[in-house]
Amino acid sequence: MSRLILATRNVGKIAELRAILAAEEVPGELLGADAFPDVPDVKETGVTFAENALLKAHALAGATGLPAVADDSGLCVDVLGGAPGIFSARWAGRHGDDKANLDLLLAQLGDIDAPHRAAHFACAAALALPDGTERVVHGTLRGTLRHIPEGTGGFGYDPVLQPDGESRTCAELSAEEKNAISHRGKAFRALVPLIRELL
Ligand code: IMP
Repeated sequence: MSRLILATRNVGKIAELRAILAAEEVPGELLGADAFPDVPDVKETGVTFAENALLKAHALAGATGLPAVADDSGLCVDVLGGAPGIFSARWAGRHGDDKANLDLLLAQLGDIDAPHRAAHFACAAALALPDGTERVVHGTLRGTLRHIPEGTGGFGYDPVLQPDGESRTCAELSAEEKNAISHRGKAFRALVPLIRELL
């Protein structure tokens, strides 16, 4: 790998993928989308995590001429038929209002007891090359939704998802502990052999 660009301005995501590539001894440089400020953000018009990840990766690869990786993720609640899913970031109406999204979800599930509070974080990670070659991989983190948020780490729905086999919520785990089991960590690690093969 020489240069690869990750379709995000989130420094945490860039650091996470950089650490995975370093641990796997993949040579080369990982850039964030900030390195190309003139490239506009793409509209997420897909109806699956994979479609949205591919849209973002292709747009960035096309605009920069570099291989590009993009991820799309969200929370899928069994009893809600997989919602909020691709609408996770704007479940309460306004994009990125984590507290409103979490409060609305907890209110919706208020009467639902533990055996029926299963949910998972899902992530699709896409790799696109400027010639149109594409690959998509997936990762999930299964758990149960708490009634009351706990923990101050992480973001989004982390304070309510207790991973299977854990007694803490995702927001009570360290970044390293969460990355080791997370949907995004799994998807990013699944990209490594594809990056080795295609770049
Ligand atoms: P994005 O695809 O990383 O932008 O995530 C979309 C939305 O899904 C976020 O705004 C969160 O609401 C939710 N989400 C995705 N991954 C996580 C996670 O690891 N913890 C908590 N919430 C998440």
